[in-house]
Amino acid sequence: MRLILISTPIGFLGSGRGGGVELTLNSLVAGLVELGHSVIVVAPLESKLSSNCNGAELSIVGGQEQKSWQHQDYDSQIKIPRNSLLVAMVEKAISLSKNADLILNFSYDWLPIWMTLNIDIPIFHLISMANESGAINDVISNVYSNFPNNFAFHSKVQASDYSFIKKPNIVGNGFELNNYKYQSLGGGPLGWVGRVAPEKGLEDAVQVANQLGEKLNVWGIIENKNYASAIEEKSSSNSISWRGFLETSHLQKELGQCRALINTPKWNEAYGNVVVEALACGVPVISYKRGGPSEIIKHGETGFLVKPDDKEDLLFHIRKIKFIERKNCRKWVEENASHLIFANKVINWLEMAIKEYK
Ligand code: UDP
Repeated sequence: MRLILISTPIGFLGSGRGGGVELTLNSLVAGLVELGHSVIVVAPLESKLSSNCNGAELSIVGGQEQKSWQHQDYDSQIKIPRNSLLVAMVEKAISLSKNADLILNFSYDWLPIWMTLNIDIPIFHLISMANESGAINDVISNVYSNFPNNFAFHSKVQASDYSFIKKPNIVGNGFELNNYKYQSLGGGPLGWVGRVAPEKGLEDAVQVANQLGEKLNVWGIIENKNYASAIEEKSSSNSISWRGFLETSHLQKELGQCRALINTPKWNEAYGNVVVEALACGVPVISYKRGGPSEIIKHGETGFLVKPDDKEDLLFHIRKIKFIERKNCRKWVEENASHLIFANKVINWLEMAIKEYK
């Protein structure tokens, strides 16, 4: 297939502002190229693809970024700024599409979804968030009634947030396993990885680490500085070790030394890349049973799923982490979430869906 991918309009690839979409897009491109497909990625200026994407073309465009939907009210209006990056990316994708089979859109925004009914080239959407915007919910619903197979989701629980979706295409997610080294020793610290923002619930993990008298290692971009300082003020001094936003090779090296990853989402996480990245390093995950992580973690085998927002339950299961065999964690990722498994699922979905255009 000849595919044009539209990246996220929230931040350039490599910035961390695009959240999990950045890694997801890179591992999909690596998988597609390995499977022999031709790929052009339309992305914001400064974007870089990972070295495993050699063979894919990167087409960069400039413009004003969109505001992320997880930080807007559900009923907010759709806004497109002057000199819009999103518009520039959509226009670029359309102009390149003459020699392509399809466009695959990664941006969780109104415009490219609305375009589905208004351009000739087939445009498909890998939806990266649960239902975070009424206007986007409505446009998906509208397009879905004519083209139900133009949408795919990362997890069943994410898709279930869209009440009108009957039989969702679920593609999971994928990771380039060579980038993650399995570490068999489990005596290390507790870790937490994610964008530091309220929907990620860092405060719960810090509180539990505090109760254990331990420091919590935190990796990720500080998206909301006030939120981060409020957590610091509430916890005992020096109880957080801020490790910053690291590129994958460094992140996995440090993360792999942890005895467990604590995952405390407050929202319906579409998937939860960091959960699988930890598992790939052999690190068991203890997570609230909410959103994507509830479909990834095998309770008692690769970690524990605990009652959402229940810090006592979190604490109870952290104390049981030594009963999880680290090799089971890595094995699950190898068998379920490699970049090639993911790329194959995406291709199967697209091949099935594109038949509706013929
Ligand atoms: N991440 C990273 N370096 C860090 C911390 C996080 O590259 O130091 C990446 C991580 O690899 C993952 C993304 O940030 O791909 C977070 O994605 P996730 O799906 O967990 O959550 P999202 O931000 O999309 O809500």
